[in-house]
Amino acid sequence: MSAASAAPLLEVRGLRVDYGVGDGAIHAVTDADLMLHRGEVLGLAGESGSGKSTLAYAITRLLRPPGIITGGDVRFHPEPGRCVDLLEADAEQLRVLRWSQISVVMQSAMNSLNPVMTTGSQLADVLEAHRPGMSAASRRARAAELLQMVGITADRLGSYPHELSGGMRQRVMIAMALALQPQIVIMDEPTTALDVVTQREILEELSDLRDRLGFAILFITHDLSLLIEIADSIAVMYAGRVVERAPAGALFRAPRHPYSLGLLSSFPSLHGQRRRLAGIPGSPPDLRQLPSGCAFHPRCGYAVDRCSVQVPPLLRLDEDGGRVAACWRQDGSAPPPPELAAGLHGRTSASAAGSSLPDRTQAPRAPAARADGTGAGAEPVAGSSPGGASADLGRAAPILGSQP
Ligand code: ATP
Ligand code: MG
Repeated sequence: MSAASAAPLLEVRGLRVDYGVGDGAIHAVTDADLMLHRGEVLGLAGESGSGKSTLAYAITRLLRPPGIITGGDVRFHPEPGRCVDLLEADAEQLRVLRWSQISVVMQSAMNSLNPVMTTGSQLADVLEAHRPGMSAASRRARAAELLQMVGITADRLGSYPHELSGGMRQRVMIAMALALQPQIVIMDEPTTALDVVTQREILEELSDLRDRLGFAILFITHDLSLLIEIADSIAVMYAGRVVERAPAGALFRAPRHPYSLGLLSSFPSLHGQRRRLAGIPGSPPDLRQLPSGCAFHPRCGYAVDRCSVQVPPLLRLDEDGGRVAACWRQDGSAPPPPELAAGLHGRTSASAAGSSLPDRTQAPRAPAARADGTGAGAEPVAGSSPGGASADLGRAAPILGSQP
């Protein structure tokens, strides 16, 4: 079963988050739309300050003042036919859901272990709080099982955090997140502070656990190359907005938003000819004073007049809805630049030099989006545009809740 066709587990629609109020408010997340399916790994990528952690805090209602959720919906479907509105849930509903249904591994989580408690007691604490009926012996056995699950031997139950390496501490945090077999694990930069070898080991373990236990992951990182390897689908954020969403392999082969193309052109390939990395000129905008129109237009080599005036909505570009991008060059009124066209021919000049897909994405778990080399026009979606844009069959249709 493909991730894309699986039942939705978490739906985020039009989510908006500000820090502060009034003219000085920082619009950290604007009209974010995401969909996480059962068993899927959804990657969320973007430069530092693009709003990734804020989005995770808002979804899980862990946002602290001055953060305010100013709009949108977050719906969790614990089982088919049941829906929990997370933004309306009260403290008790959240307490029941957190950890047992939705768990979080926060950015720098490995530093959040209690320094004066052993790993065993900390794991047992989680079990005691959420499974009060469990005996002390069962808690200890389960704690040992959890450590072994993440590649740490049970004799480390008695170790204090300072006696563990960074990678081991991060593994303990992942074990804690999995302690109650949640349906969703949100991981915010879970491996960023680790060396690449440890990072790879942990990601492989995580993938295996996901395959075995079937939980879904929202994996947040600034490292798009990492997501290409582990995610089924990827959402790219820029200045608080989701600017592109696509199956991982399809995004790698043919990014349709200039920012995704820029991110993909910023890391070297292990194969092919050596080339100078293009990167993205300029720096991310101040979220208090976003540029008019598309926030990326001052850094975009493909911008046209309209880009500095109107915010592009997320346009559905594939028939199956597997791909959306917020770019006026993809609205179907004219063929997009070849670098941003669909299909294998898309990455010919700026970014494709020498790139080849990593092994995992050569056979992605989610089906790759259409890669037939057509793609000049975006697909309309009947009834999805309140403004009637879907009636115009030559144009892409905005996704619900994403209108500017
Ligand atoms: P990184 O990759 O560095 O972790 P991020 O994408 O997770 O970045 P966020 O931490 O969500 O970014 O921050 C988004 C924006 O919100 C940034 O401009 C940041 O300065 C701002 N911000 C975050 N927390 C606060 C806060 N408590 N008060 C005011 N502004 C904040
Ligand atoms: Mg962050």
